[in-house]
Amino acid sequence: MSKNIRVRNVPSPTGLLHIGTVRTALYNYLFAQKNGGTLIYRSEDTDRERSKKEYEENIISGLTKLGILGTEGVHAGGEFTPYRQSERAEIYREQLEKLLESGDAYYCFCTKEELDQEREEQQKQKLPPRYSGKCRNLDAEEAKQRVANGEKAVIRLKVPENREIIFNDLVRGENKTNTKELADFVIAKNLNQSLYNFTVAVDDHLMEITHVIRGEDHIPNTPKQILVYEAFGWDLPKFAHLPLILNQDKSKLSKRKNKVSVDDYLDEGYLPEALINFLALLGWNTSDEKEIFSLEELVEAFSLERVHKGGAVFDLEKLNWLNGYYLRNLEVDELIEKITPYLEKVGLKADKAELRKYVPLVHERIKLLSEAPDLLRFMLVDELDYQAELFLHKKMKVDLEVAKMAIENSLPELEAIDHSEWNQANLEEVLIALVKKIEVKNGHVLWPLRVALTGEQFSPGVFEVAEVLGKETSLERIKKGLEKL
Ligand code: GLU
Repeated sequence: MSKNIRVRNVPSPTGLLHIGTVRTALYNYLFAQKNGGTLIYRSEDTDRERSKKEYEENIISGLTKLGILGTEGVHAGGEFTPYRQSERAEIYREQLEKLLESGDAYYCFCTKEELDQEREEQQKQKLPPRYSGKCRNLDAEEAKQRVANGEKAVIRLKVPENREIIFNDLVRGENKTNTKELADFVIAKNLNQSLYNFTVAVDDHLMEITHVIRGEDHIPNTPKQILVYEAFGWDLPKFAHLPLILNQDKSKLSKRKNKVSVDDYLDEGYLPEALINFLALLGWNTSDEKEIFSLEELVEAFSLERVHKGGAVFDLEKLNWLNGYYLRNLEVDELIEKITPYLEKVGLKADKAELRKYVPLVHERIKLLSEAPDLLRFMLVDELDYQAELFLHKKMKVDLEVAKMAIENSLPELEAIDHSEWNQANLEEVLIALVKKIEVKNGHVLWPLRVALTGEQFSPGVFEVAEVLGKETSLERIKKGLEKL
């Protein structure tokens, strides 16, 4: 029987939750769910200077909001606790001692100056810079004694010479690296400070990880980690490397060209569902090019075989389109609940009944929750704030004279509509009849009225707006508009 599938999400808490981290976490989550497996969250916080508790909290809270944090790890405990690498120093020390004991690792006393000199020599001879193996054959007992006496030494893995390390990447196929390219690399600064390629292999083994799914920037680390597994005689997990996420110009996704922190996206009013859908498609698709997926549908459809090898371009327009799609599919009340904090933030007040009237007017158009204040403002404020120039429309040939004439002609017609008949259909009938009567174009009348009702360059159409504002407010605003002309 095959082992239970166990995958891991192991970000270093050295920054706010990043889009790339979420994509990796998501693919791991989907793979685990699809195969009835477990996703663990381990915090790789061995870099003491750069790791921060608040970043770890940010990662946990972001992945929780997105619903893909998994069921085991720092946040949830589990069989292999602790899940924070900073709390696992004892474990690494024990494992390092085993390798020193078996002779698969050794102390290296070379100083920085010696190593620099070695590198210079190699450069002169046009050789790639590599550790010479100077301390490889020191007597292990003697070395241990020197360390006990306080001499400084790093710990290196004894890498077999001239061997091909081959692994079959589940996304990218066969990967071959000759150990000549690796030399004896450092696995720990000392017994209490192990380094990434060592800790990750130890933890993945001890936590019974079956599949290591991570970004392609880790491909060069994989042969090193395989060598650590081999030194211990452990079975290897399977490896899958995900394509890089790129800016539009094909450079690696960067803060300068895109927002990369997930909180920024959530704060701006992207829905978790839209972000998940978007990130799933950043490096994976189904054969039918389907675009809209719920998390459950993704679990159903996901497979590593369909993960792309080439880089995945971050297309903000597509994200906006997806977000608009998910917003359109919300019930009006759900949308109201989600936009209310955005309205409150800018001091716009409205009760639910009012919003139920207004929100349907913008529901089709809203792409981001944070657009709500701008889209709804004119319906929520008592006084509009705009300049007479807004009445001008070059293309429709509306100047201030035309606007004045249009409004003066409209007012009596509109006043004559009974309260009970104040609706889109009647408004349209009355105003179009007026257009015909005074022999002008639709825009000559409708543009100035819309401006007077909204004070905005863009807004829903004049009939819809007049209906939701009601007769009284509409007439009041049209008269105010006239005063500006
Ligand atoms: N902690 C590593 C990082 O943040 C992840 C390493 C891995 O997935 O093996 O990039």
